[in-house]
Amino acid sequence: QTGANDLQTKADRLVQMSICASLAQKFPKVTIIGEEELPSDEVTEELIEDGHCEEILKKTCPAQYTGIKEEELVIWVDPLDGTKEYTEGLLDHVTVLIGIAYGGKAIAGVINQPYYNYEAGPDAVLGRTIWGVLGIGAFGFQLTEAPAGKHIIVTTRSHSSALVNECISALNPDRVIRVGGAGNKVIQLIEGKASVYVFASPGCKKWDTCAPEAILHAVGGKITDIHGNSFQYNKEVKHMNSAGVLAALRNYDYYASRIPNTVKQSLVP
Ligand code: AMP
Ligand code: MG
Ligand code: MG
Repeated sequence: QTGANDLQTKADRLVQMSICASLAQKFPKVTIIGEEELPSDEVTEELIEDGHCEEILKKTCPAQYTGIKEEELVIWVDPLDGTKEYTEGLLDHVTVLIGIAYGGKAIAGVINQPYYNYEAGPDAVLGRTIWGVLGIGAFGFQLTEAPAGKHIIVTTRSHSSALVNECISALNPDRVIRVGGAGNKVIQLIEGKASVYVFASPGCKKWDTCAPEAILHAVGGKITDIHGNSFQYNKEVKHMNSAGVLAALRNYDYYASRIPNTVKQSLVP
């Protein structure tokens, strides 16, 4: 545990070791940045995954990406997003996030939801993987728009503050959904459960937003900080998204226009 607001479990450590060691073995020149700080010597052979996904390899690579060199890519890994909720048994809030950036931009991402369907009975398939690439699209879920004319806000469950709530009120919500995880909240947007994801607080990091951003942008949505600045994902960038998060599948501009100046002034990028 690194703090009551910032838990680390054995699952966070093992999953990150598996993802980062597997990627590093296959793509030794890629920069990989994971959330957890780990000793590099503890990786056992059974943690190495060397399979690949046929479905993805069947797609045509967008022309603008065919010339990319391995060393130009930065991969942002959140081994377990929604750790707080995980420790409280809210298992479907948990996601595993792998985002790929090129030229400072999120271009591809994977959101794995290991406990998807965990309460759906013994016949349901447990877990799912959502993935997307700019210029190709996003797969593994049914793209759905939120109910028209309703403002359904999705926000943090465990990192609220007066400013977070002030910002939500300014959006005139019909309903507020409080759930854990940045990955999980972007899933709420692309599946039509919520119209906007707003988090007027620092706390969320680049590994939280990279994969969800690529998937949301691949289906025409938009994610920025609370000022409307896009996130940068080059390897030198600071990890903290200090000026919060604002995201929507549709009508992003409407929600951006309703963020109060007082809220903006409290959040320095
Ligand atoms: P949440 O929406 O609260 O689940 O947060 C989304 C992501 O940002 C999770 O990975 C959280 O751990 C992280 N996060 C948000 N606020 C904080 C905070 N105040 N301290 C530490 N991590 C935070
Ligand atoms: Mg996270
Ligand atoms: Mg995490």
